[in-house]
Amino acid sequence: MSRKFTGDRLLVATHNAGKLEEIRELLAPFGVSVVGAAEMDLPEPVEDGTTFVENARIKAHAAAKATGLPALSDDSGIEIDALDKQPGVYTADWAETGNGRDFKLAMTKSHDMLVEKGAAQPWVARFCSTLVLAWPDGHDEVFAGTVEGQVVWPMRGAEGHGYDPIFQPDGYDITFGEMAFEEKNRISHRADAFRKFVAGCFD
Ligand code: IMP
Repeated sequence: MSRKFTGDRLLVATHNAGKLEEIRELLAPFGVSVVGAAEMDLPEPVEDGTTFVENARIKAHAAAKATGLPALSDDSGIEIDALDKQPGVYTADWAETGNGRDFKLAMTKSHDMLVEKGAAQPWVARFCSTLVLAWPDGHDEVFAGTVEGQVVWPMRGAEGHGYDPIFQPDGYDITFGEMAFEEKNRISHRADAFRKFVAGCFD
C-alpha cells in the first residue's frame, strides 16, 4: 500500500509555471495548497536520468531534502512513434536555445523530422507524465499517466504550454492548444497520473 500524504501544503518541485498551474487546479478539490519550487528559491537540479521516472525522482528527492517537506515532481514529455519515441525525456531539451526555451522551434523540429523521414500519417504520439511524491526520509511513491493522440501540423491554438499546439488527443478534432484549460485537465496525461496519485496517497 502507498504511503499517504497527510499535510495541507504540498511543495511542487517544478519551475514550470504551466505545470504548476495545472497541478494547483488538479489538487484544489482535495483542500491542498500548492507551493512552487521558485517560491521556495529551490535550485533546479540537473536532470541527467534517461527515463521519466529517474528524472522525476531526482527533482522530488532534491526538493524534499532541501526543505524537509514532502515534495511532488512531474517529469513529462511527448513520445512520437515514427521518431522512435523521441523526444521523450528530452522534450524540454529540444526547445533549448541557449537563451531560454522556444517551443515553436521544438515543434517545428518535430514536424520537420517527421516530414524528412516520410513518416505516414497519422503521426501517432502520446504525452507521458510521471509523478513522484518523495519524503525527506527517502521514501517515494511513483505514478505514471498517458494520453494517446497524434501530432498535427500546422500548430493550432494559444492555450496551454509546451507542445500543446501540435498535439491532438484521440477522439477530438482540436489540439490541446485549442482546448479549454478545464477540459485538458480532465483528459491529460497529468490528470491520468493524478488520479492514480490521489487514489494512492489520499484517504
Ligand atoms: P520536464 O518534465 O520539465 O523535463 O519537461 C517536460 C516538457 O514536456 C515540458 O517542458 C513541455 O515541453 C512538455 N510537456 C509536458 N507536459 C506537457 C503538456 O501538458 N503540454 C505540452 N507540453 C508538455
